[in-house]
Amino acid sequence: MAQLSDDCFAFGGALLPVDEALAELRARLAPVAGIERVPLHGVVGRILAEDLIAGVDLPPFANSAVDGYALRHADLSHDVDTILSVGGRVPAGGALGRQVQPGETIRIFTGAPMPEGADTVMMQEDAEPLPDGRVRLRPGLKRGANAREAGEDVRAGAVALAAGRLLRPQDVGMAAALGYDALAVRTRLRVALFSTGDELASPGAVLPALKVYDSNRFTLHAALTRLGCTVTDLGILPDHPAAVASALTEAAPAHDLLLTSGGVSTGEEDHVKAAVEAAGSLFFWRLAIKPGRPVALGQVRGTVFAGLPGNPVAVVVTFVHIVRPLALLLGGGTAPPLLRFPVRAALRYRKKAGRREYVRASLVRGEDGAIEARSFPREGAGLLSSLVETDGLVELDEATTTVMPGDAVAFLPFSELL
Ligand code: AMP
Ligand code: MG
Repeated sequence: MAQLSDDCFAFGGALLPVDEALAELRARLAPVAGIERVPLHGVVGRILAEDLIAGVDLPPFANSAVDGYALRHADLSHDVDTILSVGGRVPAGGALGRQVQPGETIRIFTGAPMPEGADTVMMQEDAEPLPDGRVRLRPGLKRGANAREAGEDVRAGAVALAAGRLLRPQDVGMAAALGYDALAVRTRLRVALFSTGDELASPGAVLPALKVYDSNRFTLHAALTRLGCTVTDLGILPDHPAAVASALTEAAPAHDLLLTSGGVSTGEEDHVKAAVEAAGSLFFWRLAIKPGRPVALGQVRGTVFAGLPGNPVAVVVTFVHIVRPLALLLGGGTAPPLLRFPVRAALRYRKKAGRREYVRASLVRGEDGAIEARSFPREGAGLLSSLVETDGLVELDEATTTVMPGDAVAFLPFSELL
């Protein structure tokens, strides 16, 4: 992998705005994932490694967009019906094999090649077959109507899919339409995942006294898997710097990203800081974001380390803004800006200027039918129900200080984030 310099994540600012954090990640990180060829059925959710260039025009030949009659536009009257003879028939996959003559139409079906000489197709709903075998055609059709040109979708030589995209089902379809049966994709980013905390227990056994089940590891495993990563679940680390340091050191050589949650505040029971400082180098990015306390970034033996806070809601928010772009960029992907949807606030909120805040919210229909964001009734950063029972996050930017019912706010659906 590209070796990280010791001070790769050094940042001098007091509070780092989220957009600056993203710009820093883009500037500092290069892909570490390799490249492999994968059959088309296996590429969804993977990162495209190279621009996919169209080797052919799409569609490859001019064809009809409807079932109807192919004709020369010059043969149609502008203002009255035209009656033409039907001189042939072309189904999809067939061919007429000759020029269309003046004064004739050709019965044609969707996807069939346009006969040479024809430039327009009258859809069958606008044509009336007559008892003598001819067809009556309505006036007013534009030249070129219902005919698809060769290359109108994608031109041969054009970039059909840009490198770095996380492949969606429709992208896979595009590759197939261009004749590819396999694609060059990035190898899966190898992520080592840990939880930290003496109070944590793994699900699946009776809960011991004074323990809580570890949920972050499962949230993060699921979210990273959706980004195309291979995640090694390395369990729960005790609140003990030496144990954390040796676990990270051991995991570093075989992984591209080391990820922990918990233990990164600056309290005396937050041992991840000391552990990473002992095993590698560590920086805190104090993000101007709520919820989401400082995020620890650094390296252990040249492998990127990210330490998230422990509270489940802070985990989700810092995953979205730091880990997601981190994993995409290391994995050879682009990290496109998240889509924000304007919705009407059905909530009242006050905040400090200078930091971005996220309010967990459900989308509901207002009385006038417009979509409104209603905030979860309780605020705690530890409430998993606030993530499960809502649809996403209302984003209140750095400049906002008050939100009143009826204001337009930006909404980030969880489907865009996780
Ligand atoms: P910490 O950041 O370690 O101070 O943890 C903050 C809060 O998050 C505490 O209430 C922890 O018990 C809780 N927490 C930390 N890690 C996890 C985890 N993996 N799953 C669920 N809760 C956690
Ligand atoms: Mg802890």
